[in-house]
Amino acid sequence: MKIPTSPYSGGGISVVINPATGQAVGEVGLAGLVETDDAIARAAAAYPQWKALAPADRAQLLRDFAAAVDAHTDELAALEVLNSGHTISNAVWEAGNVKNVLTYYSAAPERHFGKQIPVAGGVDITFHEPLGVVGIIVPWNFPMPIAGWGFAPALAAGNTVVLKPAEVTPLTAMRLGELATAAGIPDGVFTVIPGKGSVVGDRFVTHPAVRKVCFTGSTDVGKNIMRGCADQVKRLTLELGGKSANIVFADADLEKAAASAPGSAFDNAGQDCCARSRILVQDSVYDRFLTLLEQSVKEFSVTDPNDPRAQMGPMITAKQKAAVQSFIDGADVAFTGAEVPADGFWLSPTVALPRSEADPVWTQEIFGPVVAVMPFKTEEDAIRMANDTEYGLSGSIFTNDIGRALRVARGVESGNLSVNSHSSVRYWTPFGGFKQSGLGRELGPDAPDSFSDVKNVFIATE
Ligand code: NAD
Repeated sequence: MKIPTSPYSGGGISVVINPATGQAVGEVGLAGLVETDDAIARAAAAYPQWKALAPADRAQLLRDFAAAVDAHTDELAALEVLNSGHTISNAVWEAGNVKNVLTYYSAAPERHFGKQIPVAGGVDITFHEPLGVVGIIVPWNFPMPIAGWGFAPALAAGNTVVLKPAEVTPLTAMRLGELATAAGIPDGVFTVIPGKGSVVGDRFVTHPAVRKVCFTGSTDVGKNIMRGCADQVKRLTLELGGKSANIVFADADLEKAAASAPGSAFDNAGQDCCARSRILVQDSVYDRFLTLLEQSVKEFSVTDPNDPRAQMGPMITAKQKAAVQSFIDGADVAFTGAEVPADGFWLSPTVALPRSEADPVWTQEIFGPVVAVMPFKTEEDAIRMANDTEYGLSGSIFTNDIGRALRVARGVESGNLSVNSHSSVRYWTPFGGFKQSGLGRELGPDAPDSFSDVKNVFIATE
């Protein structure tokens, strides 16, 4: 497999490691400050023409980009398995998600409507004006989808984009950059810059030509970026951490709830901001649920990510594995899942029983294949426990009582809830966090609005 080559070197080299084996698979040159400034300058220079392009022409270029991604799905998926240890079925879905998001927002240039507002003495109309250069900072856990959720609506709204992948997972983003160029996206309109957060990412925050930053990653880094953006009143979207609750009521289909719980907590080895890493079970069915859960956790397939049957692969790095292991070492473990290979950065799915609501396994975002289970008594208890966290990204409610489902969905302080399912992200519905899980929304029909400013124009007719 061909590893994409980087034109940068000023920021040193990143050794790319296959997390399933721990073996190096290539090297990527990282951008330094001068190279970053140069890329931002090219994006700023490309902006006026991209903005002025006829809507139908911008739409067509985005459709061409989508077609190029579609034609390279297998290659992109194989690169992601190699670089990130994602299961092949997930990686194929992720490449398809980039294509779908590009296709969805390719409809936006011709439909990004303003308003005509009734006024006396004239006509009042609004325009959605693009912002300029948008800087997108991507984490390592979903390198392709999170990149696409930023660049597709940003480009559709008429902005140019500079995008920084995470240091350890640059390959698919770099390949997407090459595919954009091959599809005819003009030079400077979409530039992928591999580099360090402290160099390239920070420059997106401080460079005055970058008019918006989209950041997905840890809450601490997000808070610093928010402070930095304040200096220039820079527009900002934040998608941060989570500690989401999966609430199982006694009247639910317990078999369905137990069968689906491992996927909701261990998909992507739990390295998912939407992971339902806390399961709240009504006390009258707690024992039965745990018995069912043990069976489904043992059946959860943790194996070579190239195997189409794999449901979970390795953790991303030795460091991330060690951080997760330290939580497991301090927890009361009820049971674990499949045995895992010794080489690479693997951990077995782990179910922990918190000693109290203050137990770190219950309160901290672990970002690994660890789920904590606790009983609750009443609907009010469940809502209180679910909300007892600084986060508010997603969550699930299992019940057959539709009134309760809606009451609890309205009561849980989270941006994305699902009833009798664990779905979180559809590209045509809005996604984002309450509280310290984030700021703003990605995806859905309104995403191009967050990559533009509204201009109001009054024309006197008298
Ligand atoms: P991270 O915050 O360390 O890094 C995320 C990105 O920010 C990387 O590209 C990194 O290089 C860059 N970065 C680091 N320091 C920076 C700085 N000072 N200035 C600018 N950019 C900087 O997070 P991570 O370890 O890559 O990802 C794991 C975390 O991300 C978890 O806490 C997880 O919850 C969160 N996450 C949230 C979502 C979401 O949608 N809410 C999605 C994925 C990950």
